[in-house]
Amino acid sequence: MSAPSSSGPPSAAGGRPSTALVRRARKVDRALAAAYPEARCELDFADAFELLVVTVLSAQTTDRRVNTTRPTLFAAYPDAPAMAAADRAHLEQILGPLGFFRAKTESLLKLSAALVADHDGEVPPRLEDLVKLPGVGRKTANVVLGNAFDVPGITVDTHFGRLARRLGWTEETDPVKVEHAVGALFPKRDWTMLSHHLIWHGRRRCHAKKPACGACPVSHWCPSFGDGPTDPVAAAALVKTQGPA
Ligand code: SF4
Repeated sequence: MSAPSSSGPPSAAGGRPSTALVRRARKVDRALAAAYPEARCELDFADAFELLVVTVLSAQTTDRRVNTTRPTLFAAYPDAPAMAAADRAHLEQILGPLGFFRAKTESLLKLSAALVADHDGEVPPRLEDLVKLPGVGRKTANVVLGNAFDVPGITVDTHFGRLARRLGWTEETDPVKVEHAVGALFPKRDWTMLSHHLIWHGRRRCHAKKPACGACPVSHWCPSFGDGPTDPVAAAALVKTQGPA
């Protein structure tokens, strides 16, 4: 692995991003796509309602745990009307393994009730409608848009933000500003898969505490190369390869 070929400021005078930065960012995305051809949403879902619900549930727990709970949850409450009328104690019991089950139960009851009251029980396919739903922010809305409706969306979770900064794409820390800064570097059609590539890489190699720099497919273009071990053997030991994170 070698040092980055270029770095420099994220954008020219805070305006449009420089051509060099755009090229570098797109090379990184292509390399991540090649390294992680299986990258996708790691939450299981069958339709937009399920994706909305499991994304809300994934806060403060792992996708793996949510995937384990999902079959029981949707067997009992397959759509918004059913979930809005759910027995609270039963819902709490199903969500118990996820932690914060009382708060999560309250979230799902309110969310389902709003879907029934305002959208005939269906999940709306527009960002401006999704973010008005209780407990749904831009991150969740973009996950649903990108993966259930094929509407391009950038999902700025903790991994995405950290990697965008490490890669020198932006210095912003506010998720909405990160979303706009990174969105300006890529064609809209690439936004959803870009999100998967970055999040996948963040979960498997570019960890918050010890990134596996010496085993990183994009180290050549990363100004933060060296934040983690650069020795290939030490770095390889940090790589996570098994299943959903
Ligand atoms: S693992 Fe290291 S080299 Fe790779 S993107 Fe993260 S900080 Fe950069």
